[in-house]
Amino acid sequence: MHDAWSSHEVWVYECEACGTTWNEKFKVRHYDDGHGGEATVYERGGQRCMTPWFDHVCPRCQSQNVKVFSTPLGRHTEVPVARDGSDIAMVFHLRRLHAW
Ligand SMILES: [Zn+2]
Repeated sequence: MHDAWSSHEVWVYECEACGTTWNEKFKVRHYDDGHGGEATVYERGGQRCMTPWFDHVCPRCQSQNVKVFSTPLGRHTEVPVARDGSDIAMVFHLRRLHAW
């Protein structure tokens, strides 16, 4: 396999029913698909998983009315381990970025 590389992405989720926010970190493996394109595979915890934006359920109220968005900072840099409480701050920061 040539031209394979990996990056990390952090995806943030917000439940529109109860307001819970959380994030999940993914490892993204990128492959040259041999046809001039790029194939990507998402992994979480070393296991291949569904794409981050697919079919998420709120861990608190089980609602499927979940908003999902990726963080710009997750695409090019290793995300430092966050301490408790910083997830919420990051969501507020993203809201400012997107003028929500
Ligand atoms: Zn919820």
